[in-house]
Amino acid sequence: MTNKILQEYSDRGFSVIPIPKNSKISVDFWRRNQFQRACDLDVLSWTRQGFNLGIVTGQLSRLVVFDVDNLGSLQELQRQIPEIEQTATVKTASGKFHYYFESDLLIRTVKGSYLGIPDVERIAEGAYAVCPESIIDDRAYRFIRPLAEILPYPPRLIEESTAQRLYPQNLPYHHIDGRSCISQIEQKELMPGERNNSLHMLYRLLIKARNTSKHAREIVWIKNQSLRYPKSQKELRKVWKKDYRINCQGVRSCLDFVNCDDCRYNEREEKMFSLRVRNQSKLLTLTTTERSAIPLIDSFLDGKIPTASQYSKRFNVDWRTSKKIINGLKNKGIV
Ligand SMILES: [Zn+2]
Repeated sequence: MTNKILQEYSDRGFSVIPIPKNSKISVDFWRRNQFQRACDLDVLSWTRQGFNLGIVTGQLSRLVVFDVDNLGSLQELQRQIPEIEQTATVKTASGKFHYYFESDLLIRTVKGSYLGIPDVERIAEGAYAVCPESIIDDRAYRFIRPLAEILPYPPRLIEESTAQRLYPQNLPYHHIDGRSCISQIEQKELMPGERNNSLHMLYRLLIKARNTSKHAREIVWIKNQSLRYPKSQKELRKVWKKDYRINCQGVRSCLDFVNCDDCRYNEREEKMFSLRVRNQSKLLTLTTTERSAIPLIDSFLDGKIPTASQYSKRFNVDWRTSKKIINGLKNKGIV
């Protein structure tokens, strides 16, 4: 791998990933590189260790690649997309061709056959292309028409190609456990002001749906990176730290855009968290006002106890009354 080509990749803002020596299959968790580029030093160290490289195609790299796997299909592709003869072209280690085009848009990846041409693929969002100067069986990928000659993606092919960069295309597999609220959060473009709660809810719900916390963080991390206004790493760390117990009931009362009607959650499990059930024996010691506050608190955000001012605001109750209720419940060991 020459420094010249690495510099070219870096200058063009390509998101580059490591691929094991003599292989085309990335083993690294490369999907995060759809949203964030590796730094030049990492790329350099991969190549020094003998890794092959791939370019994550799609919007981040502004790259769409037509991959011709069967040279018999080439003529038809040339007929339909004559631009391939003028744009940057790679000859692969096995003697096939990759045609590079530039695009700012979200372009869907099409596998198997494209424009009705067998063995032609359009590699874009959610995929990567092994790139020069990777080596397989002693043969290198190389540019036969230089990268500098890359053409814009043909506008006439744009209309049918627009992809959504949303779940489920780009999120790794995870359990949802019948909770449709998880997909609803995943599919929403979260704006500043709702990101914190939404990402936190998503994290907790994923854990509840039996995903490991590591996997849940990965999903939330990718979701965050896909946002138009992602939160910083530091802010995201706060999302892991908050430790409220969440269920569909809590989500409903906290996120306006979520509808849990279709969620098949476990009612018994939900109830275990409620103050009412946990404090069954103490209910008689409460005043009527305190007792009537319990279902409200349960609906506030499961497992989280509102402060007096939050309670007052949320349920439109006089501040002094709120204070009395919350303090009363505290003194009696309910909250
Ligand atoms: Zn739900």
